Amino acid sequence: MSRLAGSEAPLTTDLTTRADTWLTAFQDALAARDVERAVSLFAEDCYWRDLVSFTWNLLTVEGRDAVADLLRNTLEHTDPHDFALVGEPTEADGVTEAWLSFETATGRGTAHVRLVDGKVWTLLTTLDELKGHEEPRRTSRPKGVEHGADRKRVTWLERRESEQAELGYATQPEVVVIGGGQGGIALGARLRQLGVPTIVVERNQRPGDSWRRRYKSLALHDPVWYDHLPYLPFPDNWPVFAPKDKIGDWLEMYARVMELNYWGSTTARSAAYDEREQRWSLTVDRDGQEVTLSPRQLVFALGVSGKPNVPVLPGQEKFLGDQHHSSQHPGPDAYAGKKAVVIGSNNSAHDICGALWEAGAEVTMVQRSSTCVIKSDSLMEHGLGPLYSERAVESGVDTRTADLIFASLPYRIMNEFQKPIYDTIREQDAGFYEKLERAGFELDFGDDDSGLFMKYLRRGSGYYIDVGAAQLVADGSVRLVKGQVSELTEREVVLEDGTRLEADLVVYATGFGSMNGLAADIVGEQVADRVGKVWGLGSGTTKDPGPWEGEQRNMWKPTQQQALWFHGGNLHQSRHYSLYLALQLKARAEGIPTPVYGLQSTHHTS
Ligand SMILES: Cc1cc2nc3c(=O)[nH]c(=O)nc-3n(C[C@H](O)[C@H](O)[C@H](O)COP(=O)(O)OP(=O)(O)OC[C@H]3O[C@@H](n4cnc5c(N)ncnc54)[C@H](O)[C@@H]3O)c2cc1C
Repeated sequence: MSRLAGSEAPLTTDLTTRADTWLTAFQDALAARDVERAVSLFAEDCYWRDLVSFTWNLLTVEGRDAVADLLRNTLEHTDPHDFALVGEPTEADGVTEAWLSFETATGRGTAHVRLVDGKVWTLLTTLDELKGHEEPRRTSRPKGVEHGADRKRVTWLERRESEQAELGYATQPEVVVIGGGQGGIALGARLRQLGVPTIVVERNQRPGDSWRRRYKSLALHDPVWYDHLPYLPFPDNWPVFAPKDKIGDWLEMYARVMELNYWGSTTARSAAYDEREQRWSLTVDRDGQEVTLSPRQLVFALGVSGKPNVPVLPGQEKFLGDQHHSSQHPGPDAYAGKKAVVIGSNNSAHDICGALWEAGAEVTMVQRSSTCVIKSDSLMEHGLGPLYSERAVESGVDTRTADLIFASLPYRIMNEFQKPIYDTIREQDAGFYEKLERAGFELDFGDDDSGLFMKYLRRGSGYYIDVGAAQLVADGSVRLVKGQVSELTEREVVLEDGTRLEADLVVYATGFGSMNGLAADIVGEQVADRVGKVWGLGSGTTKDPGPWEGEQRNMWKPTQQQALWFHGGNLHQSRHYSLYLALQLKARAEGIPTPVYGLQSTHHTS
């Protein structure tokens, strides 16, 4: 974005005055409940993203009219006050950036503003904590022991054991989180710190199993700086790209030391909401025993990549070799010397092709549609590096700051910020792309050339972060064929153009469906349809149908079904957005009024 390209910086004192002038006027207008005056401090082209602090929602409004509407509907009860500049404002290319703290009637928050010509271009407001319900940290941390002599002393272990024995049986949790992957675990940790009685139910036996069960060669595609969990960052010697089983172990340790009530080997079967009681009736199978839980709030953390898309093809029943979805792929060991056909050309397809080739299989990749391929090093350098890297840490950008800077970019214009990153990468890696295209690989960089990350946010698919397999495709070590599969025979995969591929193994690296589909299995089609599609921005680009939502549909915010929530995403999103979801749940647990502004409507039923 040219506006943010570097230029001569004015004196800090001038910048502070500039930011202060705006802030004083803004605060005065808000205090006077003068919506028109407040709106006049926004540019015509403006965005206000609010994470819970004004709207009890995750919402971005665009343009002055929308800002006015937000203020008219929220100002009185939000009562924002005590705005103050935090640190020194900065300026680049005519945009002044400043961090602010502020308070509302119910909480304390952080804001970030970008001013152009003294008016708001972008504003981010976020709720950090609820007054009177702050997390017990630092000076208010628990003592952990009662010094003195007490014949009725109860130890920490005894307390934990009785909590674990009673919760869900003698007492009911406020919240049940279904799905104990990293998403459910991070949310569970936050709710524990906020004192919200919570059970996390997980089909697998142990925390971390959802990573352990993935294909053998998997390591995180995102680097460590992007992946920290709340409260307990990875140590400084943690690998840049953690192998999946190591992440599994970390999650298991984390769930234990963060004192989660984690019910492993527990499958949620069905749930219905009782309007009168304002509680869910949730039936779970806990290690073979049926238990009915009645939480007030139900969170689905079932995984954005949770429901495998398995194509139904004629002849599958005749095929004599092994066939499975990528999520069921056991790894390459059994396939040395065998013929493997991997259908798909995104992350899992490449990872699995690479591992099969390393094991000595004869591998063919079937590319059905174009893919965005970005070399991991290039993504680290240009995409994530400025916010999530050792270089960012050294320049003082800690994880929270990075998360907030990232959150401060409205989705509507994020593609404009992303495009130059991928333009640079395409230029830098031109030779690499040329080789791939020469091998027949169909590349894309998103409908509007905004690259991999926008594809992730819009559709959660369509890309490969290259850690080596692209080279195998480029040099023909992995054979590439393009087209749609029409059928399987006893020993072959047959494409629509008549190409026949001999196969001992077929892997369907064909992606995952919306979490809505998984939720429907538990709450029923009717409730799932009332909620609508989960994920996507409504950009109208491939696989992200409109209308424009401006936030990730149904994620971390109130839905059309009372007391039903969705949580998940990559490690960064799980970390960052679990805070806002936890605060919304805590407020409800405490009976704090939570008037939701701009409740999303339903689009695209399951
Ligand atoms: C191959 C692959 C590579 C990836 N690489 C990365 C990466 O590098 N970095 C990153 O951040 N993300 C990555 N992701 C995305 C990844 O899916 C998520 O980051 C992560 O798994 C999401 O965590 P989650 O808790 O939301 O979902 P999941 O880990 O999918 O957890 C959902 C859990 O819900 C449980 N569950 C489902 N139904 C029920 C039920 N009825 N009852 C009880 N439990 C149930 C499942 O068993 C599962 O454990 C990758 C995904 C895949 C598939």
